[in-house]
Amino acid sequence: MESYMNIKGRIFDIQKYSIHDGPGIRTIVFLKGCPLRCKWCCNPEGQQFEFQQMDFAGKKKTVGEDMTVSEILTEVKKDMPYYLRSGGGLTLSGGECLCQPEFATALLYASKSAGISAAIETTGFAEWDVIKEYLKYTDYVLMDIKNIDNEKHMRFCGQSNEIILENAMRIARNHTNLTIRVPVIPTFNDTEREISAIAQFAASLPGVKNLHLLPYHRLGSDKYKGLGREYLLEDLELIPQDKMERLLAAANKFGLDCKIGG
Ligand code: SF4
Repeated sequence: MESYMNIKGRIFDIQKYSIHDGPGIRTIVFLKGCPLRCKWCCNPEGQQFEFQQMDFAGKKKTVGEDMTVSEILTEVKKDMPYYLRSGGGLTLSGGECLCQPEFATALLYASKSAGISAAIETTGFAEWDVIKEYLKYTDYVLMDIKNIDNEKHMRFCGQSNEIILENAMRIARNHTNLTIRVPVIPTFNDTEREISAIAQFAASLPGVKNLHLLPYHRLGSDKYKGLGREYLLEDLELIPQDKMERLLAAANKFGLDCKIGG
């Protein structure tokens, strides 16, 4: 067996039969570690690279597992018939999959070599030299643009958006299948002005055709308690459908194919 198959990475979940994270039916591998701290994050157990203890339905469980490329590929290959029938494959998510470049690029390469389409979900917060290696083995890039306003981005995500916006442009210039996704979060970016600014930016990216608005949900909020952390958006309401439709209409003005949902 070639050595890249033995590279280990740290993951916190493998999710099968996903239809929201790239084309077709996909297996999602969640890598541990993320440089951002988005207040709404539904995978807070994916933010820290270190192993963690989390209370889960009254029981303590360790979050994080070190697995080799070979072990993960064996798991991913089990659903080959679904990928072939649906045009699906493997998607690396997180956390931020750009944080474990040696492991992630080896896994993408192994996936492609096995005839499985490979996608990444990313926030694009990394050096361009790192991202460029991922693009060699990636068929689809799903990239979050959360806000054009840098001050708000810093306040809600803990990092500047400058490198993210620069990398979005670089990825668009170097890759043909880039989809922009926007988590729509009340009090952060749920105005027509803010969504329009993101859609206008997305429309300026060469080759980008699709923009997905992902409505705020609270599915990960219990995990904060399990990790001994406070969920900072406790008071936020979900966004009503008619408001999402208005935001969609605002995004649609820039000539992209926009939709609500992944
Ligand atoms: S970028 Fe994604 S994984 Fe990282 S903190 Fe934000 S929502 Fe969570």
